[in-house]
Amino acid sequence: MERPLITHFDSPTSLQAGLLCRCPRCGEGKLFGGFLRLAKRCDRCGLDYGFADPADGPAFFVMTGVGILVIAVWAWAVIAWSPPLWAQFATVFPALLIGCLGTLRPVKAWLVAEQYIHNASEGGASSVQKR
Ligand SMILES: [Zn+2]
Repeated sequence: MERPLITHFDSPTSLQAGLLCRCPRCGEGKLFGGFLRLAKRCDRCGLDYGFADPADGPAFFVMTGVGILVIAVWAWAVIAWSPPLWAQFATVFPALLIGCLGTLRPVKAWLVAEQYIHNASEGGASSVQKR
């Protein structure tokens, strides 16, 4: 049985909505219908997620951030300890994989929340503010 839609809510910050992977309007409904696939709408407040299109943004930010962090730690460890090559493979690749997969959903949810809060959409003549 479906729960009734809520009409009064305190909107979360974009960071809260992102970290919890929740609806940017009510902060309660689930944002994702799959691992990275967005749900059609919020199951708590009914917000249509059709506006959300972060495209490749989450992948870019995650690859760049995790890549820089892991490679920096790897370079420091190699200089400091000179670990054997097998140990480097055994730590760097899992760190990259876990780091990217672990942060992709929250970053995508955060970008969707930013789109919602700033009413962002694809650029065009209608998106230019009139004075
Ligand atoms: Zn909602």
